[in-house]
Amino acid sequence: MSGGELKGGMSTEKEILITNLSFELTRKCNRNCDFCFRGKAENKDISKEIIDKTFDEVKDYTLLTIELTGGEPFLNEDGLCYVVDKIIKNHIKLFNLTIFTNATIINPKIKESLEKLGQYIKSFLESEQGENLKKIHSEEVWTKKNYDFSEGEYINVIVSRYQHENEQCIDNFVDVYRSDFVGVVEQEEYTSNNTVLVDDETKFSDFHRDKPLSVIRAKHCIIDDGMARSILINEPISISVNGEVYLGKCIRYSKIKDNLLFNVFDLRGNFFDRIDSWCWSYYINRDIDNQISSIEGAKFKQLNGAELSETEKRLLLGEKFMYDLEDYLNEIGRRLHNRYSFLGHYEIFVLLSFYTYLDYMDENNIESTTWNDIELVKIMEPKSATDKRIDKEILNDSIVNLINENELRKQEHEQNEQFRLSILREEYQQAEHERKQRERLEKEETVVNEPSEFGLLKRFMKKKQ
Ligand code: SF4
Repeated sequence: MSGGELKGGMSTEKEILITNLSFELTRKCNRNCDFCFRGKAENKDISKEIIDKTFDEVKDYTLLTIELTGGEPFLNEDGLCYVVDKIIKNHIKLFNLTIFTNATIINPKIKESLEKLGQYIKSFLESEQGENLKKIHSEEVWTKKNYDFSEGEYINVIVSRYQHENEQCIDNFVDVYRSDFVGVVEQEEYTSNNTVLVDDETKFSDFHRDKPLSVIRAKHCIIDDGMARSILINEPISISVNGEVYLGKCIRYSKIKDNLLFNVFDLRGNFFDRIDSWCWSYYINRDIDNQISSIEGAKFKQLNGAELSETEKRLLLGEKFMYDLEDYLNEIGRRLHNRYSFLGHYEIFVLLSFYTYLDYMDENNIESTTWNDIELVKIMEPKSATDKRIDKEILNDSIVNLINENELRKQEHEQNEQFRLSILREEYQQAEHERKQRERLEKEETVVNEPSEFGLLKRFMKKKQ
């Protein structure tokens, strides 16, 4: 977009950015890896209708990354080429396309399609519009979120090697697909010590033993509207082969229902509004959700007798606190939103942080302290924690300012509503007036054209002769 309606009638001209939109191209797969985190392969491809409907909904947004996943996405040549054509035909504002593959399929049509898309992304990013968007991102998104955008590669093909029995195919695969536009890189999850996502159906194996684990769970607000010129939907959103739109990516097929937002066919051009209202029902912060996911990961390891790192042990000590905090934030966040419904997600979050901080000060009988003193605030403070001293007066002033801002927006909204209603009323009266005038004219015309009694008699006599 540019422009739209936020909750509570607050309108915005900000650019909407989606960090990651993922299409599950197919559930077919030519491998049967026992660690597969998706589940048993199914004979299903995404339909063109689902792809069309999704692009209808998001065509005005900026998409930082589109991801193509499976099963094995290269098995759905038609779907893959169709997504690429859709992006180009709809002039989608796209920064990067990423595909996850087991690197076993060589398909010249797909290669050609990816090259075409690479050229499209390159020329979009070099256009005036692309340059402007890059500026927004570099000022607001990349710096704030510490994303690393490697320029020069518009398409990333991510190859997983772990237990895929694909060693013999990889060299050829890289030779065929790698080009000026397409980068082929190895999936890090299995080669590095990065956190591995698991769920409660994952079988514990030696592979999990030494890695930090996180249980898949996406129950937090995913809208970041605290930036000057853009609103960021900052979690991956996936479209399944059945048209389900869900949070996260590559999660187990059977878990999609737990992370479901809506079905793409239920949308009526209101993609953002639906995400927005979902976010008000799960009003916690991403960092807290991440902490809880890591706690659950540590519990998973503990349950399976693996040795825990010091960090994991510490996480488990804070378990109760985190769950209580989650409940508290969800409850208070919803209440604040109901009371100050003209404030955005970020503003409610700040308000919530300030109230919590004041409570903490009262309970501990302190008048002022630094952000860094308190673990809670470090988690909740969305901008980087600072050493700034915070006293009650500053907090109270900030709270009053936010409440006043809400009131101002409410009044503005009511005035706009009244103005809109008066225009509607005028339009209605004008239409009524015209209708009545039309009716009167039609009536007059009927009277003029109607044969007089004398005329009727003459016609009757004529017939008789
Ligand atoms: S891990 Fe990838 S290649 Fe292996 S079965 Fe699952 S989807 Fe297929």
